[in-house]
Amino acid sequence: MMPGYAGAMLRVDLSRATVRKEPLPAPLVKQYIGGRGFVAKILYDEIEPGISPFDPANILIAATGPLTGHFLPASGKTHFGTKSPATGGYADSNMGGHFGPQLKYAGYDLLIITGRAQTPSYLLINDATVEIRPAAEYWGQGALTAEKNLKSLLGDDFQIITIGPAGENGVRFACISHDFGRQAGRTGVGAVLGSKNLKAIAVKGTGSLPVADLPAAYAKGKDAYQKVRAKPGFEGWTPEGTAGITNWTNEVGVFPTRNFQTSFSPHYQQINGRAVIERLKITDKGCYCCPTPCGKYGHARTDRGSAYVEGPEYETIALLGGNCCLQTIEEVAYANYLCDELGLDTISAGAVVSWAIECFEKGILSQDQIGRDIQFADLDTVAYLLDQIAQRKGIGDLLADGVKTAAEKIGRGSEQFAIHVKGLEWTGYESRNAPSMMLAYLTADVGAHHNRAWVLGHDVAGAWTSVHDLIAAGGDPETQPKAVVAENCVQYVIESQHTRPMFDVLGCCRLQLMELGFEAENYAELYSLITGDRKSWPQLLQVSERIWHLTRAFSAREIEDFGRRLDLPPPRFFKEPIPDGPNQGHHLSEADIHHLLTWYYKARGWDENGIPTRQTLKRVGLPDVAADFEARGFFVD
Ligand code: SF4
Repeated sequence: MMPGYAGAMLRVDLSRATVRKEPLPAPLVKQYIGGRGFVAKILYDEIEPGISPFDPANILIAATGPLTGHFLPASGKTHFGTKSPATGGYADSNMGGHFGPQLKYAGYDLLIITGRAQTPSYLLINDATVEIRPAAEYWGQGALTAEKNLKSLLGDDFQIITIGPAGENGVRFACISHDFGRQAGRTGVGAVLGSKNLKAIAVKGTGSLPVADLPAAYAKGKDAYQKVRAKPGFEGWTPEGTAGITNWTNEVGVFPTRNFQTSFSPHYQQINGRAVIERLKITDKGCYCCPTPCGKYGHARTDRGSAYVEGPEYETIALLGGNCCLQTIEEVAYANYLCDELGLDTISAGAVVSWAIECFEKGILSQDQIGRDIQFADLDTVAYLLDQIAQRKGIGDLLADGVKTAAEKIGRGSEQFAIHVKGLEWTGYESRNAPSMMLAYLTADVGAHHNRAWVLGHDVAGAWTSVHDLIAAGGDPETQPKAVVAENCVQYVIESQHTRPMFDVLGCCRLQLMELGFEAENYAELYSLITGDRKSWPQLLQVSERIWHLTRAFSAREIEDFGRRLDLPPPRFFKEPIPDGPNQGHHLSEADIHHLLTWYYKARGWDENGIPTRQTLKRVGLPDVAADFEARGFFVD
């Protein structure tokens, strides 16, 4: 028995139509704890190096953490991982809702899916009963529709994940959908499920989970729940959820607008958190055991039709309302609904659509290529392109591969404003005037994603003006006093890259810490009481650091010529000053960015090209990876 865990993993081979239950390996638990840690280790060890993300041999993992499914605040997270169709490197994506807890109650901490079913299928897990069932009648249905239909068939007790047409058609930013509005949105995990001919997974469990010290864990969990709700920020943050930040991002000039041409949208008060509450919201909606339900379930009426939808949350507002310039919250919500039903990540979808519109405006894409006129601030344009993409029809076939590949194919300068890192589209924070946040995006292990380190507040507060000053003075990272460097953004980014992903390891939501300041030490105590493995928060962060190096190593192994060249932003971000708004005239130079990367690699213990050194890999407990790198000739010395 392993307290905290269900104690088993389920291997599903869709090509052979076999399922096998195995005990959860104790060394895996000891070294990697759960969720993202399990994903990183299994991908590194089990994926055949160099395979295509759409090869049947690629692995799709659904992993829970030790806190998932216990009576604790917001302990409903599930972590999906695979080799990314978007980047070709390490991929994971986190999802709230109720799927993970149910998987553990059914007796499994982990699902490891390989192969490809001969015909469209879905996986049914009902405690010990596991079946691969035909899903032809659901294939082609929207993700929300398929979930509704499977619930009608199986009953509301089943928790279900689905993909939409985008996942079926191999759109490289297709998501996995759950609970009518929760998504594992990023890195194309839905496309990998589609490549396996797997439309859905339905799970129901009736078991219970062992706990090392049940009375103490129960008391601490209850206390934590009450303390979160008593935090001063609770009343301010929860009603609007993540959408509440829309005013701030505009007022400080970091709101993506017109494909990141600028960083301020004059219509932001039409699409902010207040607009969500006043014009859309029917009810709050939360994940499993959540004291701060940030989901806003609402109804949007537009000229194109009406829709019930969860959201829009901030990222969707930024990429569809700002980047595509949709003018009202109803239009943003309707586009959000289309993405959810088609199974598209709203972030990448908004980035791809806005890039296509800019290409059209600049004459790089023609009306003939696109099939019609397209423009910013037009819901019909957005709806048309989303459908083309999800079906891979016409221009949608090009756009379905994401902005990096699309720009490489059509060229003509469109690479300058294809806003991504490593092939993953940039999320909702324009960072030309924010060195820490820029560095966080460039070094995030899945590509341009804010969820590894959100450090923008410190840039805006001027906490790192020393970096600005240093860069402006032409500071040399080799000769600067260590204290200056140590106090600058690099260390802050690294700390954040260990802290935030730790929640993806434990299997619970980080927003109670990030938004309300519910202290991290509480999670260490909960982990210790649940598992019996007494660890402080700093000790947990050592595990997070190990995982960080492992995911970097995975991408270094899988992506040809991996390194610094892939840690750079698109040229727009270092060539074009922000044209208007609060940050008018600002941008970092290419040299500034190389300085930041050099400092970061040094602090991480990576070489000049950003590859972990053998000493670093050994120091963080990855001697097997060091040996693998040695054999592959990856070390330069
Ligand atoms: S804060 Fe939001 S994302 Fe986090 S668990 Fe609660 S409802 Fe889910």
